[in-house]
Amino acid sequence: MVYEFNLSTGREGFYNITNQVKSAISQSGVKDGACIVFCPHTTAAITINENADPDVVDDLLFALDKTYPDRQQFRHAEGNSAAHLKSSCIGCSETVIIENGRPLLGIWQGVYFCEFDGPRSRRYYVKVLGE
Ligand code: ZN
Repeated sequence: MVYEFNLSTGREGFYNITNQVKSAISQSGVKDGACIVFCPHTTAAITINENADPDVVDDLLFALDKTYPDRQQFRHAEGNSAAHLKSSCIGCSETVIIENGRPLLGIWQGVYFCEFDGPRSRRYYVKVLGE
């Protein structure tokens, strides 16, 4: 079972999609298994990080900007190579274990869709495996 979700993003940001992942698991009826959260874009990403203090994801965005600044030497004509770098650095998917019909996340963990080159209409998939 694969579930598709749509998202309208701002220029840059981390969007908490944990509830959508939970809803896909719940709709699937799977109690014991795993799910893959996958982003089919080259300037966005999926990650798991702190869900309690919103300053954490702001700090991640700040540090990614410092680590991967836009550079004059970049050749990609679209002009968004820094966003491509951030996407590959974070990665386009996460796998979450499903136990008793719930994602086995730590209490402080949330699943995030990361936008690095918005605003755009984005989508992501949740593939639920198991029984
Ligand atoms: Zn590009």
